[in-house]
Amino acid sequence: MAATMREMREQVREELGWEKRDPDRYDIDGIVRDAWIRGDGSEEVWKKAVEKHYKRFMVGDWGRITVETEGGFTEHHYGLIEEFRKRNGDRYRRRVAKPWGAFVRPEYTRSHILPLAELVDEVTDFEIVTEWSLVHEGGPQHNYGVYSCIGMHGFAPPPATVMVIHKVSGLRKRFCDACNVPELRVRLADEALMYQHNCKSTILELREDPSLITGPTAESSRLWDKTPADEYRSWADAFPWLVPAPAAELYTKWKENHSETVAA
Ligand SMILES: [Zn+2]
Repeated sequence: MAATMREMREQVREELGWEKRDPDRYDIDGIVRDAWIRGDGSEEVWKKAVEKHYKRFMVGDWGRITVETEGGFTEHHYGLIEEFRKRNGDRYRRRVAKPWGAFVRPEYTRSHILPLAELVDEVTDFEIVTEWSLVHEGGPQHNYGVYSCIGMHGFAPPPATVMVIHKVSGLRKRFCDACNVPELRVRLADEALMYQHNCKSTILELREDPSLITGPTAESSRLWDKTPADEYRSWADAFPWLVPAPAAELYTKWKENHSETVAA
């Protein structure tokens, strides 16, 4: 006798488990239909069905939205997907396999309803390094060269096991496995956003006149002798990802010329 729908659902969940996939992130009925009812159940058909019925987003996931603000700034904001929404903004009355959009409530900007296609999975904004020697490269001597997790711990945090790098800014933080979660990764990106907010006037100045960054250097190396151009350059060294492209290009050339002068 042919398998019942319930049996097939169970089997799909089991097979997804064997493939180390989370069954909850898949439309199980869709896979049953495409792989086994309409499809011949071959490996190729199965793979296709699994791919097709993967849910990129679920309620409770963190997503990233891109917001263009006044002055031509692009900001990344992160928030929880609170619920799925229809194209007209309405809520769904029942569960749907393919929702159109999501209602996202970021911390530092207004809430948004946007199509899932425009929503980015937060984890794609981070590089996660797991190799011990890289995570602990240059680690603190007083702790035997081992960095501690800077996540949610009180006294005596455990050793870090991952280094999370915010791709846009290069900012990095080290966490243990338990703390390598969206809430804490997103704070790293928020930190980069705060730098962007605080540096707005400098960014605008360099956008207006990129050559400010190649101005004259102070005659002496005393701190109080810094010229405005020196200030722009040390700012650019601290926040390289915030330097407008034309100014960054000029600064790279300036550094090349400068190192030649020093070498000669
Ligand atoms: Zn931790």
